[in-house]
Amino acid sequence: MTQFRNIVILTGAGVSAESGIDTFRDGGGLWERHRVDDVATPEAFARDPGLVQRFYDMRRAAIQEKVPNAAHMALARLDQAWPKKGMGRTVTLVTQNVDDLHERAGASVIHMHGEHLKAWCTLCDTRSHWRGPLIDGPPCPACGARALRPDVVWFGEMPYHMDRIHAALRSADLFVSIGTSGAVYPAAGFVQSARDLGARTLELNLEPSQGSRWFHETRLGPASELVPEWVEEMLAG
Ligand code: NAD
Repeated sequence: MTQFRNIVILTGAGVSAESGIDTFRDGGGLWERHRVDDVATPEAFARDPGLVQRFYDMRRAAIQEKVPNAAHMALARLDQAWPKKGMGRTVTLVTQNVDDLHERAGASVIHMHGEHLKAWCTLCDTRSHWRGPLIDGPPCPACGARALRPDVVWFGEMPYHMDRIHAALRSADLFVSIGTSGAVYPAAGFVQSARDLGARTLELNLEPSQGSRWFHETRLGPASELVPEWVEEMLAG
């Protein structure tokens, strides 16, 4: 595995499952007893902002009680150690998760679907670090308007940092997908792009994802076991 230089890693809800954060698909189509359409679309927010704010307030409070697991820790180790293995080696860690467990483990990460711990002012466009509730309409720290929403990308909205992610995919010689169902685009399409551009592709997941056929190799099992094993392999060579 150490012939590789530039690695792009995509993580999904499965990497945080063993930290006690629910995934989407594992709840039988419900996300903490809510239909995704009722809490994770701009239409839902327009229809019932109170329901959506309460839902995200609850998730924001919950993730602050959770801690990174062995998979987050191993990825942080790779992120820090890989560039030291040779000039020009890069790891780009992209997550669909809106929790902060990768950065709490010590990795730098691109949050393509936003972050639970940020609030976005829809009036002045400022994003502020945010730990408390939004349900009571607190003022934006930058402009004072009561127009804050969770800074998460809902279904139907454009993911963040796509230029950076595509640039990393173009130079990747290894693409690794961890704990994602491969159901949510554009992230689900990264494996095809990486493969078309000549990268080796590896999937680490509890079960084969929807795009499993695009991977050169699939390893099945819990992320807390598979990810540390794979990181050891990468750093051993
Ligand atoms: P998903 O819920 O669709 O799929 C989760 C995947 O993880 C499944 O394939 C499942 O088999 C796998 N998985 C479950 N437990 C695992 C484990 N212990 N080890 C390895 N794999 C495991 O999640 P997704 O693909 O990330 O996509 C859906 C969307 O869910 C994303 O947009 C994301 O923003 C959002 N989401 C985020 C969080 C979070 O921030 N932690 C939690 C739930 C949903």
